[in-house]
Amino acid sequence: MYDLIIENANLVTCDKNHNVIWNASMAITDGKIQIIESNSEKKLLDLTASQKIDARNKIVMPGLINMHCHAADSLFRGLVEELSLEAWLQKVWIAEKAILTPKTTYTGSVLGLAENLLSGVTSVMDMFWYPNEAVKAANDLGMRISTGGIFFDYPGIGNRSHEDFLKEAEKFFEDYNSNESVFPGVMPHGTYTVSPEHLKEAKKIAERHNGLYHIHAAETLAEQSDIKERYGQSVIRHLHSNGLLDQKAILAHCVHLDDAEIQLIADNESIVVHNPMSNLKLGSGIAPIHKMFEAGVTLTLGTDGAISGNDLDMWLTMRLAASLPKGNTLDPKVVNAKTVLHMATLNGAKALGKEDKLGSLEVGKIADFIFVDMDKIHAVPVFDPITHLVYSTCKSDISDVFIGGQQVVSDGGITTLNIKDILEDVRKLSPQIVASLR
Ligand SMILES: [Zn+2]
Repeated sequence: MYDLIIENANLVTCDKNHNVIWNASMAITDGKIQIIESNSEKKLLDLTASQKIDARNKIVMPGLINMHCHAADSLFRGLVEELSLEAWLQKVWIAEKAILTPKTTYTGSVLGLAENLLSGVTSVMDMFWYPNEAVKAANDLGMRISTGGIFFDYPGIGNRSHEDFLKEAEKFFEDYNSNESVFPGVMPHGTYTVSPEHLKEAKKIAERHNGLYHIHAAETLAEQSDIKERYGQSVIRHLHSNGLLDQKAILAHCVHLDDAEIQLIADNESIVVHNPMSNLKLGSGIAPIHKMFEAGVTLTLGTDGAISGNDLDMWLTMRLAASLPKGNTLDPKVVNAKTVLHMATLNGAKALGKEDKLGSLEVGKIADFIFVDMDKIHAVPVFDPITHLVYSTCKSDISDVFIGGQQVVSDGGITTLNIKDILEDVRKLSPQIVASLR
């Protein structure tokens, strides 16, 4: 007997061959996918399970992986608008400093992670000031999270010194290295906010624990000229010459790159997170993802925080990732829907070092999957579920989410915690948030 059988599903597996199986059944036990077969095989239909769910008129696909977020920044959505990154950050940091404590960070993290979860995201890479609170929020929601100790050389939130950040980063690995739902790393903010020495010290901690290394890189032209002025070379060359580019390096943005820098990223097998909404809204630019694909770079997708892109929407992110290169190159074939769907699923799993466990629906993998409702005006007819997912699906189409075989979203509602309490906490906090910039 299985724990759960999903029947009559239109299965978009997101496996390496982009297999789609119409009218499929999927059996799950102990949080893992045990069998996938088409109904025409008629084997599973007679088997018993503790629970059977009819997924007629749903696309069933792996949960999305949002590879760059600052979930707790959802507290500040809409507070600082229509400025360039550099001017915007100065205000963001003032507001964060006035408002953020571990407690408010927890509240904000639930707010941001819940928006991710309801839109079908099951794993998030989150960079923030109090990573333990983000982990607690993810645990309470039943989600997977990759995060870790932040590094920042200026007076940051909580007035911590570099030594404090080192201790916290080390402790984070000790606390979470063997946790199945937490993928630990270090999170140095950027080359313009962390010195080369401190970037390397963060790397040493990550290396000692075989952890990830997540950093903002080459986001704006101003950042590029700042780094060239300080260190005599561009951001990616600077990271490379300090020994920071490798398979564990996950670079958020990479908007402004020359061909040699793209090749450096590809040669070192570093990962790039494309955040088109945030890059467009801050006027940072458009990342040349088609060129990075040509060079063989592994590209993933992120929303960035709701304070910059105003929306934690991986469906909008996919649509932009698939459409912007077409408009830029005047070539509608330059980046296709299958490639973009992999950016949001299997490539994310690869970036997290979990390609064998997450990112696609395959026998033996962890049962993180979502239902996309096709009983919608914009989903009839559907000739190709993959192009439907990338070009037509919106986050409100996600009806159900399962993580490790456990249902955490049912019919559009979170089952794991009472989100209304969190909304009330945020409402109470909002006068202080507005006052923080006065
Ligand atoms: Zn960011």
